[in-house]
Amino acid sequence: MTLIHPMSAKKGRRKHIPQRTCVVCRRTFPKRELNRIIRTPVGDVVYDPTGKAAGRGAYLCNDLACWKKAITGNFLDRALKTKLTPAHRAALRAELERRKTLHGRTSDNG
Ligand SMILES: [Zn+2]
Repeated sequence: MTLIHPMSAKKGRRKHIPQRTCVVCRRTFPKRELNRIIRTPVGDVVYDPTGKAAGRGAYLCNDLACWKKAITGNFLDRALKTKLTPAHRAALRAELERRKTLHGRTSDNG
């Protein structure tokens, strides 16, 4: 069954962009602007820079405050239905530190 809304056909076609929600601040963003954290099939929780790794995924926005909360709080535990170990948190913290450095360097893009 297909419903066609006469109004919606008018505007220029936009490609459908998949939206995802940051697990911390609950804001939605285009998927490609978010950072994917996955629970791998063996139960590790890792940052997935490709966005394509197999596993259950949770998304974090680029707000470093969200990363901090995700690392110290239980957002990822809940989203991934697992228990983050100190090692998992340490690895995510390393990624956060890397981002802090990046942020300090690039000020203008846009
Ligand atoms: Zn966020």
